[in-house]
Amino acid sequence: MSEAQGPRLLIFGKQGAGKGTQCVRLCRHYRVPHISTGDMFRAAVQSGSQLGERLDSYMHAGELIPDDLVIGVVSERLSEEDAARGFVLDGFPRTTAQAEKLSELLAPGDVDLVLSLEVPTEVSLRRLAGRRVCRGCGTNYSVHSPPEQGWECDHCGGEVVLRRDDTEHAIARRLKLYEEQTEPLVSWYQEQEKLVAIDGIGPLDTVTDRLIRAIDRRWPTDQVRSAS
Ligand code: ADP
Ligand code: ZN
Repeated sequence: MSEAQGPRLLIFGKQGAGKGTQCVRLCRHYRVPHISTGDMFRAAVQSGSQLGERLDSYMHAGELIPDDLVIGVVSERLSEEDAARGFVLDGFPRTTAQAEKLSELLAPGDVDLVLSLEVPTEVSLRRLAGRRVCRGCGTNYSVHSPPEQGWECDHCGGEVVLRRDDTEHAIARRLKLYEEQTEPLVSWYQEQEKLVAIDGIGPLDTVTDRLIRAIDRRWPTDQVRSAS
């Protein structure tokens, strides 16, 4: 491979932590693909396929999509050529079965670093209440920082709307599932000394700097350094 290797990162954070926005920035910085299961599933829903309809019934209610389906989609995506350079995985793994499958898929390698973007629940709830998203490209806005013209996306001109699963009911359900199913994984990665917790409070640029500094302290690993 002639191109330099990028990091393989996982990022955790409860709904409204700013994970999606920060992932886009990290991917630009490290030039690795952003693999967001939420974005992939929303695209499938938009395509109107039968699979999309099935996915929508889970997502709309804030329920998790069954593991076998999620694992199939992610395995396929990780086997694409661009993912060999590294990646930022956003929204996966979310359950123990998914985390185990990921270790299997990456063996004998592993992820380089796992980031946890931390914000108190009150803050995440406040952010979700104001969040708006472009139907076309998925860019996040908020009632406090709307697009420049009306509710039309600055990037693609798409319609900027409330996300269908940002209802009170679905938000409560997603936060509960995060706590029950996903937080134990954060502890699991911590035991493996892969985890770095990052404070998600503050201006976007400040949070991005914190993430990049944390990544650059731990990556490239010694292995990559001695191989290059
Ligand atoms: P959020 O973190 O705000 O819930 P995402 O965009 O990451 O949003 O995910 C949206 C929805 O997509 C989830 O509520 C769930 O229904 C589904 N989903 C995404 N990733 C996974 C996953 N790894 N396992 C199961 N369901 C998932
Ligand atoms: Zn857009």
